[in-house]
Order: sequence, then C-alpha cells, then structure tokens
Amino acid sequence: MSLLNLTKSQEIFEKSKQVIAGGVNSPVRAFIGLGVDPLIVEKGKGDTIWDADGKTYIDYCMSWGALLHGHAPKTIVEKAKRRLEDGSSFGIATSIEPELANQIVNLMPGIEELRFVSSGTEATMTAARLARGYTGRSLIIKFNGHYHGHADLFLVQAGSGVSQVSSTSCSEGVPHDIVKNTLSLPFNDLEKVRQLFHDPYYSQQIAGVIVEPIAANMGVVPAAQEFLELLRVETNRIGAVLIFDEVISGFRVGLQSAQGLYDIDPDLTCLGKIVGGGFPAAAFGGKKKVMEHLAPTGGVYQAGTLSGNPVAMQAGLETLQLAMRMGFYEELEAKTRLITEPVRMALQDRNLDACLQEAVGMFTLFWGPRQVRCFEDLKQLNKERFKQFFCYLLERGVYFSPSPYEACFISAAHTEEHLINTRDLLIEFIKDI
Ligand code: PLP
Repeated sequence: MSLLNLTKSQEIFEKSKQVIAGGVNSPVRAFIGLGVDPLIVEKGKGDTIWDADGKTYIDYCMSWGALLHGHAPKTIVEKAKRRLEDGSSFGIATSIEPELANQIVNLMPGIEELRFVSSGTEATMTAARLARGYTGRSLIIKFNGHYHGHADLFLVQAGSGVSQVSSTSCSEGVPHDIVKNTLSLPFNDLEKVRQLFHDPYYSQQIAGVIVEPIAANMGVVPAAQEFLELLRVETNRIGAVLIFDEVISGFRVGLQSAQGLYDIDPDLTCLGKIVGGGFPAAAFGGKKKVMEHLAPTGGVYQAGTLSGNPVAMQAGLETLQLAMRMGFYEELEAKTRLITEPVRMALQDRNLDACLQEAVGMFTLFWGPRQVRCFEDLKQLNKERFKQFFCYLLERGVYFSPSPYEACFISAAHTEEHLINTRDLLIEFIKDI
C-alpha cells in the first residue's frame, strides 16, 4: 500500500512491473527497503517535480546531480529544441562536438583532449581500458564504497545502489577472472596505499587507480588532501595512470571541478551528468600522451553510435556557459549552506548519532555515524531512521535521494523559500527524535 495514496502512480508502477524488469530502469528508483511505492514523475520545472497524481515535491535528487540549473531551464530548453529541429543524431562528426570539447579542455586542468560517450559507465570503463592499454598492465585499484558505474571490473566493494543489492557489494554474473584484476582499498587510508604501492609484486602490476576525489556514492565523503596527493605521487613513481572519476563532482563543485579544488592534475578524468545538461552524455579525457593510445590513432578500441550526440552537446554547452557566470559557484555554495549549517548545529545541540557532510551543491545527512571518512564507517548506518526521515520529508513535499548511501543535490534553481522550508523540516525532525 502506498503511504500517500498515490493511486495513479501506483497504477503506473503496476503496469511498469509487468513489462519493465523490477518496474524501473535503474534499481535505486524502486525505493528498495523504504516501505513506500516509488515516485512516478510527470514533469519538473526549476526545483520542483510533479508526480503522476499532481502532488509537488522540492527535488533534491536533480537527476542524481545532472541538473545543475534545475529542471527545464529556459535557455537550455530553447537551445536543445533548436538543435533538435536540425536533426537529433547523425553518427557523423558535427561542429558542436569540438565546441563543447574546447570549453571543457579550457576549464579542466587535467584534460588536454577528450572523447564523448553516452554514460558515466562508458567513460570509466574506457578510462580503465585506456590505462591498461597505455601501461601494458592489468591491475586496477579502486576504493571501497566508490561507484564507477556498472562495468564488470568495478563491481567490487562498490557504493550507490549496488551496496543495497548485495552485502558484499558485488554483482552476480561478474566472472572472478575479471574482478581478480581489481583491488579495492579503504578510502582515505594512506597506509594501505603506501603498503600496496611499495609491494615489489603489485607495484609492477598496477595499470591505474580510479578514485572519486569527492566520493558521493556512499554519501558525500571528500578525500583528505594528503590522500589524493599520495595517489598522485605514487602513481607517478610506478608509472600507473591516475583516474579521477568526476562524474558527480565535475562542474558541480566549481568550474575546475574537484581537481581544481585539490590542485591535483590526474592523468585521466571521467565526466558525466552535468556535461550532458540533462541529456545522455559523458566524457573521458586527459593527457595527450595517454589519449593518443585510443583508436583511431592508437590501439585501444572505443566507439558509440550516439557518442557526441548534438542535442546533448548543445545542452551541455549551455549548461557550462550558465555556470561560467560570475559568482555562480559562490551562490550555489551559499544555497547549500542555507541548509547544511543550521542543520549541523541542530544535530550538535541534540548530540545525536548523526552527521552532515557536504561539498559545493551537495550534501548527505548520515543517520548513525558521527563522521564518515570511508565506507567502513557506514557499518553504523541507521537504516530504520533513514526510512522514517525519507518518508517524513516525502509526505511533506520534499524529495530527498531515496537511499542512505546517496547525496542530495542543490541546483541554481532552488529558491531561498524552498531551501528555508526544507531546512525547517529537517530541524523539526531532529528536534522530535
Ligand atoms: N561514476 C560516478 C562517480 C557516478 O556517480 C556514476 C553514476 O552515478 C557513474 C560513474 C556511472 O554513470 P552512469 O550512471 O551515467 O553510467
């Protein structure tokens, strides 16, 4: 039974279940373990979404961070529409692709050239293949709780929706022969990295290290500065490729993304979400000496029917242009703090087992742990409390990301009134515990 009596939504979900596996096209949309029916969205505008029954919600999922400017921003819609009228896809190079590529190369310190793909999974999967092709080695290092999409090699101790499907954070159907070449280490653990990189056997096997510099798939957990610095030093020393997965942090935390904030240039960067302006586009790019190993100039194969799709490129370009307005990220940060600072104070006042962690334009309220530095800290997660909290907000017209392992996202379209309204609801919930 639905908590909210969303009869039309229930009806649609029932129909979906008959023809779509599990009724959804991505597992986390099924509201696993939340005790309520999944939301069925009809439309969105600015910071608000409407469900199939006409109820509105202030949206903090924002297509999992893809919508930096909120739903259906006027200029992005106009430009994408105009581009669409000239044809939606060609499978032939277009002039809009180098325009967006140029913009990204100019902004991102670690990217000299790039390749567009259609999803973050494609970007990370190909970056790993490229690291292997470039170094001639096989081993990929990742970190527990980080999510790099659903390619086989990354489904080892992964975060996001995967952590709810299996207690070992792995997936059935992934052969051991593939994941034996992936090692997952605790995030922010300098000692474990030093040990591995100084091991005479492993140091010769490591092709690449992939890391979310600001992890956001086990909730928001920024890397310690010295941790990322150590990864840069050690990968340089052993000749391995350092890959920053900025699919979430790219253009969310600043125009130079997390690599700008930390002042560390990776060899390869993966982008997604925001670069497509709400359309399916992603990219990976980096140092020319690595990128030139990609076909057609090199021997590492990658291709895509819809790669560099002109409508997505146009939306991505306009998205970045809007973000380049003076003071854009300062405003986004101020909007974020409107919620995070008073809520953090309320948690401290009540001395609760909970904490709020944030980066520009995103945050997670963790119920259970008092600090989260790595995936292992999430053993203390209070999932029952999260469920209460999520349903409390949903009933009051606020849609938070439907999992305790995820981030909430703030867009430029969030109004002060809605942010204050949300803040007050959070504080009320905290006071009532
Ligand atoms: N990398 C990170 C950091 C992500 O958060 C995600 C998706 O959420 C991906 C990669 C995979 O992107 P996609 O879902 O577009 O395949």
